[in-house]
Amino acid sequence: MTKKQKKMLTRIIVCAVILVALQFLPITGIPRFILYLAAYLVIGYDILKKAGKGIGNGRVFDENFLMAIATIGAFALAIYEKSGDYNEAIAVMLFYQIGELFQSYAVGKSRKNISALMDIRPDYANIEVDGKLEKVDPDEVAVGSVIVVQPGEKVPLDGVIIDGTSTLNTSALTGESLPRDAKTGDEIISGCINMTGVLKIRTTKEFGESTVSKILELVENSSSRKSRSEDFIAKFARIYTPAVCYSALALAVLPPVVRLVMGLTSEWEQWLYRALTFLVTSCPCALVVSIPLSFFAGIGGASKEGVLIKGSNYLETLSQVKTVVFDKTGTLTKGVFEVSAVHHSPLEQEKLLEYAALAECASSHPISKSLQKAYGKEIDRSRVTDIEEISGRGILAKVDGIPVAAGNHKLMEQLGIDFIDCHSPGTIIHMAVDGKYAGHIVISDVVKPNSKKAIEQLHRAGVTKTVMLTGDAKKVADSVAKELGVDEVYSDLLPADKVEKVEALLSQQSGKAKLAFVGDGINDAPVLSRADIGIAMGAMGSDAAIEAADIVLMDDEPLQIAKAIKISRKCIGIVYQNIVFALMVKFACLALVALGAANMWAAIFADVGVMVLAVLNAIRALRVHDL
Ligand code: ADP
Ligand code: MG
Repeated sequence: MTKKQKKMLTRIIVCAVILVALQFLPITGIPRFILYLAAYLVIGYDILKKAGKGIGNGRVFDENFLMAIATIGAFALAIYEKSGDYNEAIAVMLFYQIGELFQSYAVGKSRKNISALMDIRPDYANIEVDGKLEKVDPDEVAVGSVIVVQPGEKVPLDGVIIDGTSTLNTSALTGESLPRDAKTGDEIISGCINMTGVLKIRTTKEFGESTVSKILELVENSSSRKSRSEDFIAKFARIYTPAVCYSALALAVLPPVVRLVMGLTSEWEQWLYRALTFLVTSCPCALVVSIPLSFFAGIGGASKEGVLIKGSNYLETLSQVKTVVFDKTGTLTKGVFEVSAVHHSPLEQEKLLEYAALAECASSHPISKSLQKAYGKEIDRSRVTDIEEISGRGILAKVDGIPVAAGNHKLMEQLGIDFIDCHSPGTIIHMAVDGKYAGHIVISDVVKPNSKKAIEQLHRAGVTKTVMLTGDAKKVADSVAKELGVDEVYSDLLPADKVEKVEALLSQQSGKAKLAFVGDGINDAPVLSRADIGIAMGAMGSDAAIEAADIVLMDDEPLQIAKAIKISRKCIGIVYQNIVFALMVKFACLALVALGAANMWAAIFADVGVMVLAVLNAIRALRVHDL
């Protein structure tokens, strides 16, 4: 509990004690009135102050105003009637404050939960100075420095392991509880915890650019993007609050006037009381509190599972997804190619691979990484100049001053070089050296173990169409699509063609149905931002994806897509349950009060009750592990 919450609890107890004591103590007259007034002020002074401020600011109709006017009115009525029954006004305030306390406790708790989940911020980095380790602020470590991470410590910056082997716990980042092995030469991202061995890491990014910083930034900003459901509340409140205020006024004035005109007694005290009760009842606390809380809990629960959602609006869109479009390489397939053959090359296989690996030395495409790995030797970047990456086609570069091209048939056509087609299954990398065709390298990728299951689960979760887009050749694309059970497949696409295809698919959507694009952020950032919702997967390394995507899946697991959709559906379901439930109870209570069938006690009980239930329901959105 925070200090503020403790103070509120004390006020609640003091007020309740005075109230109970007054029922038994034989105090009468002015002292009795003063004690009641004291109890009222103890519990309600801040509400009165806020209501006063609201009027001063011209924003009259808020819940503080409703509470203030209703309780002061009840108090005044008790004085006028000389009934001495001030219990009601105070009890109403008391229950309201108990509700507020409960709410702030619940909100605080879920916020804490979420920041604990995201406990990935490193406090320091170790640098070796004269054989001793020195702790420095990760912010001060320059790119290319060597840091040491000991067992049990968080990896503070992104980098490459230059010495040591260990296992890493990535659960705070990915929700994946199995440890991952890491060895010399592997890339390592900040935020994971080093478990077993000492690692020496050469940093490749500054702290501000490292994975942890990006993720924390993303999570911290996520609650500021409002969804339409939240907008709905703001709009609703703007109409609702004045409407109930005028209705209450009408309830206080019209019936007595009509009765007088009809020659009856006005009974104005009774109608004024009903009007005040009507005001107390109208307070839409349950809605105002529970909806943002539900979204917050949904986003928090998802982040615990390694699904980062950048805002509640995306959660809402995701729940309406009917079409899921995938990129192939790195998304449905591993993006780790093995060289399976080299054909028609006048050069030694070794030499051809060397040209390929050198030309590819600056690219982050999975193909390039695989070729460098197949070459297997240290790459001397100084031998390579004039690198040009043509996305969706390949690479042009000069190696030792000799022009080299590595890419698909489109690249060869673009260069006007005759090439020999290949009938082997796999992705074909045609090579041209010094303007002449130099054969092709056949590389093959494998689909991820869970891709097929992921597509099945999407269909089961109500996604009506799955589509695969790829820049790879038709033969490979068709065989992957068939293996996975994807509904439609389009191959030989350049990045711009992918955007066009997604636009065409978007125009086929009907009504509220939404389209999601899932990619790895390499070559497909434009598509990620063009789709209704962009999901980047395996994005732990790629900044482009984290920036362009609306939802980031922290590991390479395609099953997470169906999971993310289920999380969003659950959360939106809870939001709608709360809206419907709160409004139904509210309108029922208002009707009962207007008819004189419910008093202030009943009204406040109903209100606090609905709020508590709605908040408990909202917290359910945090539990998404078993979806
Ligand atoms: P995908 O849609 O499957 O993710 P891309 O659009 O990234 O594929 O690439 C499409 C094709 O372009 C690849 O299959 C490959 O033939 C060629 N290509 C792209 N980048 C490179 C590269 N760095 N080196 C060689 N070929 C490349
Ligand atoms: Mg790709």
